[in-house]
Amino acid sequence: MNDVKLAVLGREGAGKSALIVRFLTKRFIGEYASNFESIYNKHLCLEGKQLNLEIYDPCSQPQKAKISLTNELHWADGFIIVYDISDRSSFAFAKALIYRIREPQTSHCKRTVESAVLLVGNKQDLCHVREVGWEEGQKLALDNGCQFHELSAAEQRLEVEMMFIKIITEILTN
Ligand code: GDP
Repeated sequence: MNDVKLAVLGREGAGKSALIVRFLTKRFIGEYASNFESIYNKHLCLEGKQLNLEIYDPCSQPQKAKISLTNELHWADGFIIVYDISDRSSFAFAKALIYRIREPQTSHCKRTVESAVLLVGNKQDLCHVREVGWEEGQKLALDNGCQFHELSAAEQRLEVEMMFIKIITEILTN
């Protein structure tokens, strides 16, 4: 059986837990109260292959300028980087995370420059108070060799599911 380890990172409040819980339970839980980092397990069958998926949710990401990520970089096969399209500071945080993952100095880690990274602009249902344009997300992703999705954990169950499947497939084919 294949093991796939996925870390979901981003600024506090971007919707990491909402996306994970949506994928695992198909439900949107508005206020998901957990102050602890968690690793969730799920068995999946994808294109006839059995796999054991582990998803890491840090719950609250440190808001400091220099992001360490040392443990995550050693542990994960792929990363979902989440920002909130209605919060520009969360986009800046996502950018810093991507740069950290793509840094050449991290080449001793499990995955580096070529690792699967998917950038997600969450809360698309709040596009009337949007602070980050779709094009900005797309450009950041393109410039750094990432996939990009804009979606809403609150309103788009299928898109959330497809987004997870897409990055898992990329990890498996790498
Ligand atoms: P985390 O700190 O990144 O894990 O963020 P949470 O998953 O705890 O979500 C933070 C807040 O954003 C909560 O109040 C969620 O209900 C809300 N939220 C998450 N996803 C969405 C979304 O797609 N749309 C809207 N409107 N709110 C969302």
